[in-house]
Amino acid sequence: MSIRWAALVGHPVEHSFSPLIYRAFGYALDKHIHYRALDVRDRKLDAAFQIARDRQWIGWNVTLPHKVSVCKKVDTLDVSAQQAGAVNLVRFKDGHATGYNTDITGFLAPFKAHETKISKATVLILGAGGAARAVGAACVKENAGEIIFLNRTPEKAAGLASLFGGRACALEERALKKELARADIVINATSLGMDGTSTPIPQGVAFKKNTLAYDLVYRPRRTPFLKTAEAHGAKTIGGLEMLLAQAVEAWRIWFDEEIPSDIISRVRGQLEIKLDEDA
Ligand code: NAP
Repeated sequence: MSIRWAALVGHPVEHSFSPLIYRAFGYALDKHIHYRALDVRDRKLDAAFQIARDRQWIGWNVTLPHKVSVCKKVDTLDVSAQQAGAVNLVRFKDGHATGYNTDITGFLAPFKAHETKISKATVLILGAGGAARAVGAACVKENAGEIIFLNRTPEKAAGLASLFGGRACALEERALKKELARADIVINATSLGMDGTSTPIPQGVAFKKNTLAYDLVYRPRRTPFLKTAEAHGAKTIGGLEMLLAQAVEAWRIWFDEEIPSDIISRVRGQLEIKLDEDA
């Protein structure tokens, strides 16, 4: 069997879990995938893309800061990338490059195992970057009852609110108190929590009981946002679920192959151990 090359392309990439996930899938499925994290600056992106296309790589995962610029490099934009306004996955096939976005599918996947549904729910989204945009698109797709964006830079929240038909406000204590008291689902789509200490939820601000709190940050496994939510009796979803679901979707697009659930569970267990070791 020939070796297929793939990479995560971005800057920085050294702490990414992607190599671990795809190598584990390849090992479990007996597929020879050579997967690397490639630290690529803006000025080298064109050359890297050309090499991957010419050498018939299977594909790329794309992360910051290249998710928007890669939209212009691919030959075709899948509808998922059009909806999200960004590419986070490329498939190279017969010299043709197609750009996809797996953020929406990846974000929605963990809801299958939860009673709480987005349909008709009041959804509070903290953040207004690329991930918040995908979450907004997912909420529209699933017919959320109401969408509220709170962000440090309120203009960006207002931009997403007008795009997705929601409300917007600055990420401040007063607004948080008011919106958390009403929200059925609260999503942390800011980068707060990656350091293990920062959180968008100030002390003394309470979640509604039975709220579903979903943190897109996956490292550490139990972020300060999730710990506060649990302390208030909220149900929680950690960012690892979305990360894993996106990798499963990428594998399906690259290899036209579904990953069996027992393999997904095994890889989830390996990642949880690694996250706990790193904590
Ligand atoms: P991004 O486009 O850079 O957006 C970052 C967001 O965080 C912005 O809303 C920014 O607010 C906010 N923020 C950053 N520092 C802040 C601070 N000190 N106080 C308040 N707000 C702050 O990044 P992104 O791509 O949307 O990613 C956001 C997070 O989601 C990251 O942690 C990323 O790892 C995670 N993520 C996880 C997955 C997964 O599969 N689990 C997938 C995608 C993203 P401003 O607009 O005011 O700067």
